[in-house]
Order: sequence, then C-alpha cells, then structure tokens
Amino acid sequence: MIPRTVFNEEHEQFRDTVRKFLEKEALPFHAQWEKDGQVDRGLWKKAGEMGFLCPQVPEEYGGLNLDFGYNAVIDEEISRFNLTGIGWGLHSDIAVPYIINYGSEAQKRKYLPQCISGDMVTAIAMTEPGAGSDLQGVRTTAIKNGDHYVLNGSKTFITNGQHANLVIVVAKTNPGEGASGVSLLLVEADSPGFKKGTNLEKVGMKAQDTSELFFDDVKVPAENLLGAEGQGFIYLMQELPQERLSVAIGATANAEAALSWTVDYVRERKAFGKPVSAFQNTQFKLAELAAELAAMRVFVDRCLELHYAHKLDVATAAKAKLLATDFQCKLLDECVQLHGGYGYMWEYPIARAWADARVQRIYAGTNEIMKLIISRELLQ
Ligand SMILES: Cc1cc2nc3c(=O)[nH]c(=O)nc-3n(C[C@H](O)[C@H](O)[C@H](O)COP(=O)(O)OP(=O)(O)OC[C@H]3O[C@@H](n4cnc5c(N)ncnc54)[C@H](O)[C@@H]3O)c2cc1C
Repeated sequence: MIPRTVFNEEHEQFRDTVRKFLEKEALPFHAQWEKDGQVDRGLWKKAGEMGFLCPQVPEEYGGLNLDFGYNAVIDEEISRFNLTGIGWGLHSDIAVPYIINYGSEAQKRKYLPQCISGDMVTAIAMTEPGAGSDLQGVRTTAIKNGDHYVLNGSKTFITNGQHANLVIVVAKTNPGEGASGVSLLLVEADSPGFKKGTNLEKVGMKAQDTSELFFDDVKVPAENLLGAEGQGFIYLMQELPQERLSVAIGATANAEAALSWTVDYVRERKAFGKPVSAFQNTQFKLAELAAELAAMRVFVDRCLELHYAHKLDVATAAKAKLLATDFQCKLLDECVQLHGGYGYMWEYPIARAWADARVQRIYAGTNEIMKLIISRELLQ
C-alpha cells in the first residue's frame, strides 16, 4: 500500500469520530431507510451536533473553517460503509459552497448557521425533465417583477429533494439568452407555489430521497438571487470541479471497501473442496483490481492535494470523475462475480454497492460529458 499523504493527524482523528458515529447512528438503520426511501431526518440534526455538516463554513457564520480534507474524510467513511442514503455530500460539498462563495452577507448570515446545525437541508436543482446534460437548455424561468422573481417550471432527479428546506434553483432570468440568461436563486421549500413531487423509485441508492420539484408562480424575493443575474452558468462551471472530485473520492473509497469485502468472502467460500481464493482466476482478478485501484488512489489523492491549493482545473476534475466511477463500476461487477449467487442478493453489501454505484457514471455530469470536457481541452 502506498502511504497516503493528503491527510494529517487531525484529519485521521476526525475520521475515527465519523466512523464511530456512522457505525452507531447509521449502519444499523440503513436497511430500513432503504425501505422508507429516505434516511431519518434526525440523522441530519445529530450530524450537525457532531460538526459533520459543512466543515468549510467560515467561523463568522458559526462554522469550523476547515479545509476540504474534512469533507473528503466524511465522503470516504460514508462510501466505505456504502451508506448511500446519506446526502451530506450533496449538502456540504456541492450546494452549501455556492452560498459560501457567491452568497450575500445577509444570505450567509440567514442560511449558513442552519445548514451547519442540520436544521436546514439543501439541494441543487439543475436537471429538468427535458434538460440534463445540456444545462443551457433549462426552461424554468425566473422573471423579475419589482422586488421579487416569479419562478415557473419543474426539476427532476433532485437529490435531498424530500428533505430539502432550501433549494438552489437554476433558472433563466433572461429566457431569450443561452448561458448568459442563467441565474441561481435560493428558494425556500415552504414558499407558496413550490411543490415536491413523489420520492422517485430508483434502481439503487434506495435510501436517498430523489425527487421532482414543481414551481408554479413562486414569488422569490429579489434578495434571494445568488450572486449576480446572468452569472449562474459561470458559477456552475466554477463549482463543478469540487462536485466531481467529491464523486471520485467516494468512488475510490467504495471500491477499496468492496475489494476488501471480496477478499474476505473468497477466503471463506469453498468450491470443489477449496477456498475460492485458491483458484488462479480469483487471484488474478483480485490482483488486477488491486493494481488499478492503487493507481486510482494516487491519482485521486493528487487531485485532492491540487484542490487544497485551489489548482484543480476543470479537465483534471473531469478525468478523476470519469476514471474513478468507470473503475468503481468495473470493480464492483467483478466482485459481484466472485461472490457468485450471493453477490446478487440484496442482503450482501456487494450487491447493494453494485446497484448503488451505477448512477455515479450518470450524475454530476455523465461520463460522456466528462469526455467532452477533456477532449475540448486537448483540442482547443
Ligand atoms: C440518483 C440521481 C441523482 C441526481 N441528483 C441530481 C441533483 O441533485 N441535482 C440535479 O440537478 N440533477 C441531479 N441528477 C440528474 C443528473 O445530473 C442527470 O441525470 C445527468 O446530468 C444526465 O442528464 P439527463 O438525465 O437529462 O440525460 P441526457 O442529457 O438526456 O443524456 C442521455 C445520454 O446522452 C448522452 N449525451 C448527452 N449529451 C451528449 C453529448 N453532447 N455528447 C455525447 N453524449 C451526450 C449522455 O451522456 C447520456 O448517455 C441526478 C440523477 C440521478 C439519477
């Protein structure tokens, strides 16, 4: 194992606390949450009390002002246990950073303390029934009318969609324009005209609440515009590398865990009078996966190191997301195979991880969109 250098002693102590918390407060209940279609809302409050939500928020807003390494530690521990229902990554790594980076002083004072405490769950609503990869094509509109915007449209596949109290909505404030017509609005879930659709039934990530959202003449106060009008697309492009790094971090940690479950399984399971680990096919498969995983770990850690220094560029983050999630899915597929029929049984972690991982190649920008970004940089 190549020693990791991206985390210091404090990170590792924090990891220990996160792991113990998840073992006690989440692991025993996750199977039930899968049936419920969402985690217990109380988990968010408990996480807030432990300081696990939005560790990057500056102290003046009640935060711990920690580096992104703490987010990464939380992402890794959640992924190692395959607790895919827990939407803290979307909240802490993806949505709340928009408020930290582009919010007005008043917005930060109003929302950040509640995001840290777990009183407020956030979501980000980009995707629409008719526009996912092509974000410039969003049809939700927010038309200025005096001191407010009138929001109309619908979104789909929104993570934390049921629990969310505050949603960052991507809308056209100037429907005649493409990217330059896009703005971001902070929309409170109890606003009249804002409705949440049903909790969507998914192939995996069954404890994650994922929803449609509907906006029917929702009056959004003008002061809830996030940053400047027409700059939404630029903000999205600036924030997406952290989102993609976060996905790559989770993918790598999950792959490491899955490989270790599989090593344990093939040592125990017997066929033809010997452990499955005694077959050369098993040994070679595990060796290939371990070798690729070692390379993935070094690459993703290096990306994290670059991110600490604010030097992770868009194309490199896209490479990390593409490689790590493609590899995660490949590894999980091989590991299911090495588990035989038990690998297809929901009660086995490997089966759940396999189903849960499939979406990693689809959200946060599909892996085809990652290739577009990478090739654009090559060919510019
Ligand atoms: C569980 C889950 C959670 C999600 N969470 C969120 C969330 O919190 N917020 C949010 O806004 N969205 C979320 N999404 C939506 C997700 O980001 C989109 O599904 C994704 O961006 C793809 O968009 P689409 O589904 O419209 O697919 P499409 O854009 O219709 O793509 C269909 C296929 O065409 C390919 N394709 C599209 N354009 C090109 C191109 N130019 N070149 C080559 N191939 C192309 C795609 O790669 C894909 O294979 C979530 C989705 C899921 C399933």
